[in-house]
Amino acid sequence: MRTLFLKIPKVIIIGLGFGGLNAAKALKRASVQLLLIDKSNHHLFQPLLYQVATSALTSENIAIPIRQVVGKQKNTKIILAEIKEINKEKKEVIAENGDRYSYDYLILAPGANHSYFNHPEWEEWAPGLKTLADAVRIREKILLSYERAERSTSKSEAAKFMRFVIIGAGPTGVEMAGAIAEMAHQSLIGNFRNINPIDTEIYLIEGLGQILSVFPKDLADKAQKDLEALGVHVLLNSKVTKIASEGVWIGDRFLESSNIIWAAGNEASPLLKSLGIPLDNAKRVVVNPDLSIPNFSDIFVIGDAACTYGNDGKPLPGMAPIAIQQGRYVAKIIRKKVSEENWNPFVYFDKGMMATIGKNKAIAVVGKRKLSGRLAWLAWCFVHIFYLISFSNRILVILQWFFLYLSNKRRASIITKAVTDRDEPLN
Ligand SMILES: Cc1cc2nc3c(=O)[nH]c(=O)nc-3n(C[C@H](O)[C@H](O)[C@H](O)COP(=O)(O)OP(=O)(O)OC[C@H]3O[C@@H](n4cnc5c(N)ncnc54)[C@H](O)[C@@H]3O)c2cc1C
Repeated sequence: MRTLFLKIPKVIIIGLGFGGLNAAKALKRASVQLLLIDKSNHHLFQPLLYQVATSALTSENIAIPIRQVVGKQKNTKIILAEIKEINKEKKEVIAENGDRYSYDYLILAPGANHSYFNHPEWEEWAPGLKTLADAVRIREKILLSYERAERSTSKSEAAKFMRFVIIGAGPTGVEMAGAIAEMAHQSLIGNFRNINPIDTEIYLIEGLGQILSVFPKDLADKAQKDLEALGVHVLLNSKVTKIASEGVWIGDRFLESSNIIWAAGNEASPLLKSLGIPLDNAKRVVVNPDLSIPNFSDIFVIGDAACTYGNDGKPLPGMAPIAIQQGRYVAKIIRKKVSEENWNPFVYFDKGMMATIGKNKAIAVVGKRKLSGRLAWLAWCFVHIFYLISFSNRILVILQWFFLYLSNKRRASIITKAVTDRDEPLN
């Protein structure tokens, strides 16, 4: 009798965001040894980060430990580590402490970071929103600003603390601007004696001639009107030329502010550089039609780290549904490779896009249909609840939103750091 020893392939997934986590779940019953590596212990629902930054939700509402989602998968091991290097010839990845992990198949889903257009020094005064730590820091900075405005000795000093400048009018910038406006004009009213939060000034700065540039112009114009009705000053065709502790410069124009938020640019994870292959302008890997990398059919790149194209031939933007579909797709490919079947190229199924401005205000494009106002807002709420990763998070978010809708009170408004009068950077 002959015994057949079959080698079980080792699959490593780096990054358990939307792409990586969906690949891991789809490989649950595959005949592979799965090693999941992330530098944070949780999966994060980034589209609702701005609500943590504006006190509407808590960190726990929009994040869940990775072990709670896939820890029980029998073929799966999870490691908390930051991967610093990939050696594609030796088929191994190397962590920050020098530990090495070998693979037969590698799925890279490390996402993207902020990009400051060759001005890394701006980050100190204009933090971006990418992680839970970013959101909590921005939230505390906003809350602390009102406290500092309340004890200011001059009107001009108070105005500086109550002036918010948001750079970049994509969905994140628009959502932040709308949420700060609602916070100032609804939630904080009546809470102070020396200042009136209604005097808050919010500037949304955009380099292009339209906010939400990926949306049709008529819808984007509606969103701009909604923002202006909430008291947001929208500055179009305005390029930021300098950011420092005092504020923001747009050419000769100076906006004095101690609250600057960066929502203008992204570039893919620096980890991709170690692949030693050409990257596009946003530092993403231009992948093959099956999402593998040139000359290495055992390495796949997905989500915000990959440059892929839609049916119209245009590069796909960094969006959660794209990462989710790509994660499921590569899981299928690896299963097929393991069982030596053929596979088809990746095709993105576009379900539409949406952005919210505030309560009862949103825009959405679904196929050829354009929606705005309350209907779009309800659709936005439904989709975001639907895509949250766990049942408990869905229930918690529904309850928090219901409470906020009825009372305008933002429960997540605790400042945990010691009060300081220094204009210190957020990092
Ligand atoms: C504020 C904000 C709002 C957004 N709003 C929307 C929206 O409304 N709709 C929408 O569709 N999309 C939205 N997006 C975009 C969407 O979140 C991304 O497209 C999506 O998260 C990409 O998924 P991903 O799996 O590629 O990467 P991510 O979800 O970013 O996950 C990357 C993971 O990799 C880990 N990681 C990174 N580097 C390493 C390393 N070296 N070693 C180990 N682990 C590593 C990270 O810890 C993280 O867990 C938003 C993004 C942000 C930041």
